[in-house]
Amino acid sequence: MELSRKGHRATVIERDQQIGGLAKTLTIREGDDVFLTDIGPHRFFSKNQYLYDFIEDLLHEEWRKVPRLTRQFVDGKYFNYPVNFQQVVKNLGLLRSARIGFDYVWARLRYGLFKKPLRTFEDYVVANFGRSLAEFSMINYSEKIWGIPCAEIHPDWAKQRISGLNLWSVFKNALGLGSKKGPKSLVDEFYYPQFGTGRIYQEIGKHLVATGTQIFTDSEPVRIRHDGKRITEVDLRTPDGEITVKPGKVVESVPITRFLELLDPPPPPAVREAASKLRWRAQIYLFLTLDKEKVTDDNWIYFPSQDIPFGRTSEMKNFSKDMCPPGKTSFFVEFFAFESDPLWTMTKEQVVDLVMPYFEKWGFFTRKEVRQTYLWKRPHVYPVYDSHYKERLGVVQQWLEGIENLVYIGRPGRFRYTNQDHSLEMGIIASRILLEGRKYDMDTVGSENEYFEKGPIYEKRI
Ligand SMILES: Cc1cc2nc3c(=O)[nH]c(=O)nc-3n(C[C@H](O)[C@H](O)[C@H](O)COP(=O)(O)OP(=O)(O)OC[C@H]3O[C@@H](n4cnc5c(N)ncnc54)[C@H](O)[C@@H]3O)c2cc1C
Repeated sequence: MELSRKGHRATVIERDQQIGGLAKTLTIREGDDVFLTDIGPHRFFSKNQYLYDFIEDLLHEEWRKVPRLTRQFVDGKYFNYPVNFQQVVKNLGLLRSARIGFDYVWARLRYGLFKKPLRTFEDYVVANFGRSLAEFSMINYSEKIWGIPCAEIHPDWAKQRISGLNLWSVFKNALGLGSKKGPKSLVDEFYYPQFGTGRIYQEIGKHLVATGTQIFTDSEPVRIRHDGKRITEVDLRTPDGEITVKPGKVVESVPITRFLELLDPPPPPAVREAASKLRWRAQIYLFLTLDKEKVTDDNWIYFPSQDIPFGRTSEMKNFSKDMCPPGKTSFFVEFFAFESDPLWTMTKEQVVDLVMPYFEKWGFFTRKEVRQTYLWKRPHVYPVYDSHYKERLGVVQQWLEGIENLVYIGRPGRFRYTNQDHSLEMGIIASRILLEGRKYDMDTVGSENEYFEKGPIYEKRI
């Protein structure tokens, strides 16, 4: 869109039927009833004013502020997320709370006073929260997401997600000494399009088509020829057959490992070897439409316990009532898996049988209230930040930097755990690189050195 606004035309290749990637909104029709759902909860948050203005210009009155309720469900009890100190004390009792306090002081001594190095994600969260609270709130859930022990997760993940947050700041907030007393922040509310997050990308698509950019959906590159310095030709599979394009410049945002596989000639063995060890965490999604007014008031709920097979649920109606027909609701259940896990090959019926006993036991909904169920699987959702990912990614990046007419961006394209605002920012930076020929450090996007929930909510211009 940035390029087209400056009068340049591009060709967009998308393998799916619909653009928007992981941030698309799906439309489910059941007779006359229409349910809309994102692929898991998609809250927009950013500290970049330009992005808010950009989206407001696309969506106008559809771009709305939504009150936020997000909780963790542990041992049958709800705990606010981000952590609320008073509630933890109330739900866990004085003895466990005292243990949390003791562990925190001990962690500050080890990591603060005695300077134990922060080598892993586990070090990072234990240093900032003490072991008991870290295990309660972060370690279990993180291990569920990544499928590897926290002691093997790179601290980059903690730096990206919880930098600047610690038990002391949570405690100060509980006493009313923190920023919580100030204006409403990203913890209290967020922006969300009336008909789903994918509306942002639908509108971008419309603008592109209207200004002469060609979008090929249900299409993919099958071979990318290069001479070591430039990409020279790309063979594309499209619904109308194979075509070859000779691009002046290429922006790629498909999984970086897949991109390398498409190159002809292939990259050097050391690069291929490094790329083969970059791992992805996949996700399985179960979507249920319900004959029920509402399940809970939460936008989403985390289930950190290892005994529960899914990690998070969300209810689209609590993002916007227009995501469901009146009097009905829907429920979205997320599982994390490797493609080698038995879960990955389960049928929809098996997954429904796996989860229903939990929802019935907790009084969420009954089998009778379930109208229809849908199962989707996505392979390249989370780039795994294991302890060696950075060196391996570095080898790949160094080689890719040698291809002059390539800019690689996005979550799968850069193998970075980032959000939609970051992908938009990377797209904007890519347009500047292409138009101005200057170098920008793409890895600074999404590496804010402060807790990502912090900060005031943006106010609309009109
Ligand atoms: C469950 C979940 C919850 C999330 N919650 C939030 C949130 O609350 N807030 C937020 O801002 N972000 C959230 N995100 C993250 C957000 O969805 C992503 O950061 C964003 O969609 C990444 O955009 P991208 O274009 O970089 O990558 P992707 O969305 O992964 O898009 C890559 C695109 O490339 C296409 N593709 C892949 N391979 C090929 C190929 N070989 N040829 C052609 N096309 C190909 C794919 O079909 C896809 O359209 C969430 C993500 C998930 C999964």
